[in-house]
Amino acid sequence: MKKIKVKVFNVYKSDNDEFLDNINLGWRDKFDFHMHIIDKDGYVWNEEVGFKVPDEYIEETYKYELEPKEKANLHTKKIIFELAEQKLNEAEQDYHNFFVDLFSKIDNSEDLFLSEWSCELSPIGNCICKWDGNDNTCIFCGEPDERK
Ligand SMILES: [Zn+2]
Repeated sequence: MKKIKVKVFNVYKSDNDEFLDNINLGWRDKFDFHMHIIDKDGYVWNEEVGFKVPDEYIEETYKYELEPKEKANLHTKKIIFELAEQKLNEAEQDYHNFFVDLFSKIDNSEDLFLSEWSCELSPIGNCICKWDGNDNTCIFCGEPDERK
């Protein structure tokens, strides 16, 4: 890993409000540029808009750059992490579906579904709802799935 000294734009470093108020950024907020790296000409850029940063706002700091091999390694780990996260979500879905199926059998009804609402009376922590003729209501707490 390379440690590189850089200059950044610290929006809070000076009390010169006049400068900050006079930067013409259109709809963009000056705070969008906070801690952005200043280029060799003394400018900070956000997509296509840039401006020169006065010395009183310049702060020196470091940025870190990975070597190509480290970059590839990190990329692989990110992919593994994403797959693990996906598996975890699927497992959680299976877990909930298992209970919905189980309670469908106990309740002898076909139309049970898991609600997004948390439920203190539900053994799985969320409402499990079914159509009661008027509303989808929770079989544990009786609250409707449509809540205002
Ligand atoms: Zn409930």
